[in-house]
Amino acid sequence: MKLILAQPRGFCAGVVRAIDTVDRALDRVGAPVYVRHEIVHNRHVVETLQAKGAIFVEELDEVPTGAVTVFSAHGVSKEVENAARARGLPVLDATCPLVSKVHAQGRRYVASGRHLVLIGHAGHPEVEGTLGQIPGPIHLVATVADVSLLDLPADEPVAYITQTTLSVDETRDVIEALKARFSDVTGPGTADICYATQNRQNAVRELCEQAELLLVVGSPKSSNSNRLREIGVEMGRVAYLVEDGSAVDPAWLDGIDTVGLTAGASAPEELVQSVIQAIAGFRDITVETLDGIEEKLQFRLPPALNRLTPAPAAA
Ligand code: SF4
Repeated sequence: MKLILAQPRGFCAGVVRAIDTVDRALDRVGAPVYVRHEIVHNRHVVETLQAKGAIFVEELDEVPTGAVTVFSAHGVSKEVENAARARGLPVLDATCPLVSKVHAQGRRYVASGRHLVLIGHAGHPEVEGTLGQIPGPIHLVATVADVSLLDLPADEPVAYITQTTLSVDETRDVIEALKARFSDVTGPGTADICYATQNRQNAVRELCEQAELLLVVGSPKSSNSNRLREIGVEMGRVAYLVEDGSAVDPAWLDGIDTVGLTAGASAPEELVQSVIQAIAGFRDITVETLDGIEEKLQFRLPPALNRLTPAPAAA
């Protein structure tokens, strides 16, 4: 059986930066370091950092006074930022710079007097953070049907921004619906969907041209991983989201000659390798990787890391 790996797949620059931020904070001040929300949506990543001394909390009031606190790659609301400041917590903001860019863009649209529409999924932490970063009312829509329910006159000036990890195709449809509904619409097109999401979606389309079965390594909570699986389904493939090799059911491989394998932006390569190992335990395989973009983008770590007071050396 042939196993084809997508290129690119797995970690993006924002995820690497977020994980490195926690790692470097632990190196600098020692355990524990508190992290608000899962640093990225991957259980393996979270458990690895927990083993090193990171403590994950959902709310700031779970963080003891004075403890180093990391905000996750998804971003946080102004309210959370202000609460941390009021408590004097030493904060490392690991919000992906591409998420921060969307926040700034939304603020500019609101300042210019437009009604702001956020295209995204209710309840996702990135969306919660974006809603709380921009002053004034924001209309959240996820689908074309949601656009028709917007309670705004057709001639009101409207601007839109998007969650960074959406399906490019679905988002394009929602943008078209906004343009059909309102006479004065501005926005970034699908450019708010980050480079990593777009590259992984393009690669999975190419993969599905060749593969009969698609496996996506990623967490059920990971937005971009779910979108990758959905693209496989749209292209008529049987597609499963798996957290690691232990989730592979050998029955999925019955009658299959070519399997495509990719990973969401928060899934480490070692989990991809565990899936390869699992499949190799069931079938004789050859492994090849598609030609694809080699991503070189890197983000600088939060400067506040350098301001942390190092832990005293052990006696
Ligand atoms: Fe940043 Fe995109 Fe990665 Fe999200 S998926 S952390 S927006 S690079």
